Amino acid sequence: MSEMRTLKVALLGCGNVGAQVARILIDDAEALAARSGARLELSGIAVRNVDSPRDVELPRELFTTDADTLVKDADLVIELMGGIEPARSLILTAIQNGACVVTGNKALLAQDGPTLYEEADKAGVQLSYEAAVAGAIPILRPIRDSLSGDRITRVLGIVNGTTNFILDQMDSTGAQFADALAEAQRLGYAEADPTADVEGHDAAAKAAILASLSFHTRFSLDDVYCEGITKVSAADIASAKEAGFVIKLLAIAEKIDSSDNGSGISVRVHPTLLPREHPLAAVRGAFNAVFIEAENAGELMFYGQGAGGTPTASAVLGDLVSAARRLVLGGPGRTETTTGHVPALAIDASNTSYYIGLDVADQAGVLARIAHIFAENGVSIEIMRQTIHRDSASNVESAELKIVTHRASEAALAATVEAVKGLDVINSVTSVLRVEGV
Ligand code: NAP
Repeated sequence: MSEMRTLKVALLGCGNVGAQVARILIDDAEALAARSGARLELSGIAVRNVDSPRDVELPRELFTTDADTLVKDADLVIELMGGIEPARSLILTAIQNGACVVTGNKALLAQDGPTLYEEADKAGVQLSYEAAVAGAIPILRPIRDSLSGDRITRVLGIVNGTTNFILDQMDSTGAQFADALAEAQRLGYAEADPTADVEGHDAAAKAAILASLSFHTRFSLDDVYCEGITKVSAADIASAKEAGFVIKLLAIAEKIDSSDNGSGISVRVHPTLLPREHPLAAVRGAFNAVFIEAENAGELMFYGQGAGGTPTASAVLGDLVSAARRLVLGGPGRTETTTGHVPALAIDASNTSYYIGLDVADQAGVLARIAHIFAENGVSIEIMRQTIHRDSASNVESAELKIVTHRASEAALAATVEAVKGLDVINSVTSVLRVEGV
């Protein structure tokens, strides 16, 4: 690493997201350098008040209130202050000074993105904003890069966690909007002033960004029809449910070819009924997801945490490494790194839950003997269900046991199954399958 180039990183803002970005930049410096091809040196953090308490302990000398000077001396600028000014002017200064910029500021991009993109193009620098839509979910780069050889026809996004939480609460408990909102505020999913979320403004800003990238045209907030969730009643939710639907606030961007209204892109945010079997219907709580339909790829879905300091920092750092690679190597930069040097492990080392089906004699004490063998081998049982069968011809009763274990090693499970097979009360082991996602 000694002859590696050092790139100066200026961080603007040290709130929910900025503090986590600073932490990762410091804690994971080695790994980030290996992936970028350059040391990423946090040169300073601009805030309003250097003495404010922070979520993360960071060196006091990094903090400054002079954002302008910090930006002028940086190779890479991360803007996580939010709001329009001074974020906008600072980003323009950074671009004019030849720095690449990473931001999560959807409000600014939706309002004045075109100016910023044009300035970045003119200066030949990268302006990245993966964190601005759906937090941690890598969605903008897949749309911009991975799908650039395809034609996207429609994007449906649950891109606001607060409203998804509220609608999910209403759907699962029958609550009215006001009660579900109060619960979201109590749990920290909604702000004291929830207007930007519940009126759909935040989702609309994201819809403009998604539509712009998906349809290779710059759309702004003015192009987005926006309707929030404040008028959705418990009765609406109940009747949707009865008909097999769930109500979600969707950000939609779709290509429309109409002989009446002409062809174009409809960009809109509104409460929408989705069939319960649609993949987006399964997005619960404050999670986000974006569902894409493309001519050749077909249907794709991206799912994850749409907000939160640490998840959002992940998206910011991905953009930062990508911009750093570009500064170091030119062009699109290094796309794969092989610096991990970690060995591939044999299946014996894997650790999962298991489903085991057993056909056993219906005798007293059988369950205890089986449970004892599991315990002896260090495999703990999460669920055990028994069903009794009677063979009508022989009139002999047998029992089918279905067991789901907690996570255990492959080796421990194999030893358990071998030992269970040896019991005189076992007719057969009918299945041994690995379980994930529980
Ligand atoms: P935040 O917690 O409010 O933090 C804002 C930070 O910026 C604070 O450290 C503040 O300094 C600093 N700041 C604000 N105005 C400033 C000014 N005029 N000069 C210097 N510093 C200033 O914000 P956040 O939640 O981290 O969000 C940051 C950005 O990420 C926003 O654009 C937001 O939309 C976006 N984003 C956030 C999330 C999320 O989950 N939070 C998810 C996706 C995108 P002080 O600490 O001194 O007040």
